[in-house]
Amino acid sequence: MDAARILIVEDEKKIADTLQVGLVENGYHVQVAYDGGMGLHHFTTGHYNLLILDINLPGISGLEICRKVRQQDSTLPVMMLTSMGTLADKIDGYNVGADDYLVKPFEFKELLLKINVLLKRSRQAQLAQRNILKVADLEMNLDSKEIKRGNTRINLTAKEFQLLEYFLHNQNKVLSRAEIALNVWGIDFDTNTNIIDVYINYLRNKIDKHYSPRLIHTQTGMGYILKVKED
Ligand code: CA
Repeated sequence: MDAARILIVEDEKKIADTLQVGLVENGYHVQVAYDGGMGLHHFTTGHYNLLILDINLPGISGLEICRKVRQQDSTLPVMMLTSMGTLADKIDGYNVGADDYLVKPFEFKELLLKINVLLKRSRQAQLAQRNILKVADLEMNLDSKEIKRGNTRINLTAKEFQLLEYFLHNQNKVLSRAEIALNVWGIDFDTNTNIIDVYINYLRNKIDKHYSPRLIHTQTGMGYILKVKED
């Protein structure tokens, strides 16, 4: 996955530069603007995955920038910074469309944590919008019916696709053979048939055998579970 691009708009140079150094160390691409005008300029001319916005800026305020950003991009995660932790201030921030809020001074670790949460949420929203189910490096596109692990395309039969889709909708949950039979085959489970195990085996050969981490695991006596587990 490409490193996320973060735009910091903060006029206190020391804070801005400290954040930049820390975020770069954590693998992000960072652009800093020391006033609102430059901040808007970078936002308009660049592509960013997250915006860190100080409220009190010379020229155009952080609230005004956030309002303008939201007119063009309703999904870009925006984190507000302020030195006044008043409720009115927070409400102003949320009213113009900020997603989260930090009061200065704050721990860098807390910022990092919040950034991770915002980026993860935004990536998931983008995947949902594109109708994609995902686990580890496996992606299933429900529109085009394409399956990929990393950059490798995987071809599944219709039944294997349905089986994997059922697993993807129920990640980290043990699924009994009876549940799988009912939801994927639409049949009551017949203990004399090994059709479920046969198809799980087909699926594993295609999506797990040559890849890491393994995704489909046997839960002895209970069924199967799809989860990320190194083994
Ligand atoms: Ca400021």
